Amino acid sequence: MKKAWKAAMLATFAVGALVVSGCGSDSGSSGGGDLPQVGVAIYKFDDTFMSGVRARIDADAKGKAKVDIVDSQNSQPTQNEKVDLFLNKKYKAIGVNIVDRPAAGGIIEKAKAANVPVVFMNREPLTEDMAKWDKVYYVGAKAEQSGEMQGKILADYFKKHPEAYKSKDNVLHYVLIKGEPGHQDAELRSKYVIESLKKEGIQVDEIAQDTAMWDRVKGQEKMAAFLSSYGDRIDAVISNNDDMALGAIEALKAAGYFKDGKYMPVVGVDATAPAVQALKDGTLLGTVLNNAKKQGDAVFNLMLVLSKGETPTKDNVGFEIIDKQYIWVPYEIVTKDNADQILGDK
Ligand code: BGC
Repeated sequence: MKKAWKAAMLATFAVGALVVSGCGSDSGSSGGGDLPQVGVAIYKFDDTFMSGVRARIDADAKGKAKVDIVDSQNSQPTQNEKVDLFLNKKYKAIGVNIVDRPAAGGIIEKAKAANVPVVFMNREPLTEDMAKWDKVYYVGAKAEQSGEMQGKILADYFKKHPEAYKSKDNVLHYVLIKGEPGHQDAELRSKYVIESLKKEGIQVDEIAQDTAMWDRVKGQEKMAAFLSSYGDRIDAVISNNDDMALGAIEALKAAGYFKDGKYMPVVGVDATAPAVQALKDGTLLGTVLNNAKKQGDAVFNLMLVLSKGETPTKDNVGFEIIDKQYIWVPYEIVTKDNADQILGDK
């Protein structure tokens, strides 16, 4: 009996120590005595863009809050369990990078019942779910804008290089590598890049489209398949993010592109470090800055204000709050010409 009690006490202390230091196996941490405790569930740690947001939240928290950052491993049930734990532990505010967008509604209901404010990021809940509670926020970027900017980069290129129309018909025959279907960024970027090209007066023809789920290796596989089916007919590659664009560039290199005058314009989104390197190397034509640092700042500042029971405003969060619940961080075009300046500034 005594032994069992002792074991239980030890286990409680061990769990307590983990919570206090915030250093569970998959959590980031920021030490500190009376600092508010917040929790963040990322959809999966193995995502280049979200790794940038996560690192920024962790850095921002130093000396201001204890933050428990966990990996939902791309599984909604896993994420639900992590959120339940946050709520059971009575964290003061939580951040959620939802795995499946329609699942946000359930999380909002639970958080409301526990009176723990929620900040969603990067994967936008449906409007009707956002309306379920006024202590729910979303930090992201307007996906339409990134698509429009990709279109502008490609239109500028083809206006300057009419010889790049391989079929000599003044029609841009493209392949599109899509992110995760149903993700607002995948759907809207794919739509607006084409609308923007048309607005710029470019005639377009889609040769093929496939999803590579935001993933570099899958991007390479899909591009290799496009090349073997359509080979020299492809005038340009439009990718919903940089990781897939970099994968496509690998496939293009293997097919002899980017040397001896053989070129293919490829555009991505995010402006990750390896993508900026590719811009400099001349393989990636252009990308769009998806500002991970600012999105991380907005998420953290919101959580901090909410954790103190205050109402977020432009003054205490540092970002304008639109329609009382949204913070939109602008995108920016990045090419070889402004890469260093853009990245130095951010
Ligand atoms: C980024 C992708 C990322 C995705 C994750 C998008 O905004 O551009 O790189 O994989 O978010 O949700």
